[in-house]
Amino acid sequence: MKPLIYADNNATTRVAPEVVHEMLPFCTEQYGNPSSMYAFAQAPAKAMDTARERVAALVGAERPDEIIFTSCGTESDNAAVFGTLAALPDKKHVVLSSVEHPAVYNLAETLQHRGCRTTMLRVDSQGIVDLDQLANSIWDDTALVSVMWANNETGVVSPVKEIAAICRAKGVAFHTDAVQAVGKLPVNVREAGAQLLSLSGHKIHAPKGVGALYIKRGTRFRPFFVGGHQEHGRRAGTENVPGIVALGKACELAAAYLQDEVTRVRALRDRLEREILARVPDSFLNGGGADRTPNTTSISFEYIEGEAILLYMSDAGICASSGSACTSGSLEPSHVLRAMGVPIELAHSAVRFSLSRYNTDADVDYIIDKLPPIIARLREMSPFAPK
Ligand SMILES: *Cc1c(COP(=O)(O)O)cnc(C)c1O
Repeated sequence: MKPLIYADNNATTRVAPEVVHEMLPFCTEQYGNPSSMYAFAQAPAKAMDTARERVAALVGAERPDEIIFTSCGTESDNAAVFGTLAALPDKKHVVLSSVEHPAVYNLAETLQHRGCRTTMLRVDSQGIVDLDQLANSIWDDTALVSVMWANNETGVVSPVKEIAAICRAKGVAFHTDAVQAVGKLPVNVREAGAQLLSLSGHKIHAPKGVGALYIKRGTRFRPFFVGGHQEHGRRAGTENVPGIVALGKACELAAAYLQDEVTRVRALRDRLEREILARVPDSFLNGGGADRTPNTTSISFEYIEGEAILLYMSDAGICASSGSACTSGSLEPSHVLRAMGVPIELAHSAVRFSLSRYNTDADVDYIIDKLPPIIARLREMSPFAPK
């Protein structure tokens, strides 16, 4: 039987059994609307309070009511940017980075349509934003700086404290997309100095369709979703109670598993990466010179296409990704790798492996056994590879 080696945890993750167990009653008996007055709705309302406390604890928020629940990481990112702009009507400029996830990156075009200017910060060859450019890009009418905490394609970690310090000195709010940072690195909004932070359930072993946005108390923000008074009027719409309960549990587990992530998962990733680079000639690590999340490796295999590698790996039962899942399907090479100055052919040949607490040594053994012959076979067929 073909095994399933899931090494695409930056695209989505398996829901933890503990999470399923905790959310299940809210899919069945406990279906009350948490906004209702009667006693029957108290259990879901209370469960949401617990979830909010757990999310707040994971990110180091001062108070649970600084957390609002959203439908996904994308909504959190959109709400952070549009919610800040809407609260500051005289500000017309937003600073983003050129390696953001599409949930932020693609806002640039929309913002321009709405009459805002955007500055896209360049990054160095390791994917780190240019801090001098940041300091010189903040004007009187700058509403927000948004730079991700950790990159989904390469795992590269941003210098969030330095970015926050520059924003603080200039009096501008700092939002960070921490979807790929939470559960993989210690994340503390107060130490980091961020006013807004996004996270997503399905990247940390909760189901798809739930996320959260941290909004520091006192931060100017207007709701992105308008309607009822849920979430203290900051995000309308009847709450996804099962999803929120799941996210809370996933955050509690993420804290408990952080040590495993930074030791065991990191060791698995390091061995996977080392062995691939040693066994496959003309393979190159992307972002290897930077501080990275412990679970992610992005490797380019010269002369061949990442998509072809994925298909052959799929036949062998291995799930990985080329660039980010959101951009595969289009033939555009990853904007992240291009921004880092990776040549276009190498950007096309990149494969990302991303591990989780559920990966084992046997998974790594399997990949390092199957991958080199796949690369060799594809290069035999490639008109570009030297023979
Ligand atoms: C997955 C991801 C998102 C989007 O989250 P969804 O919940 O899928 O909308 C945003 N930012 C980063 C860095 C991500 O990896």
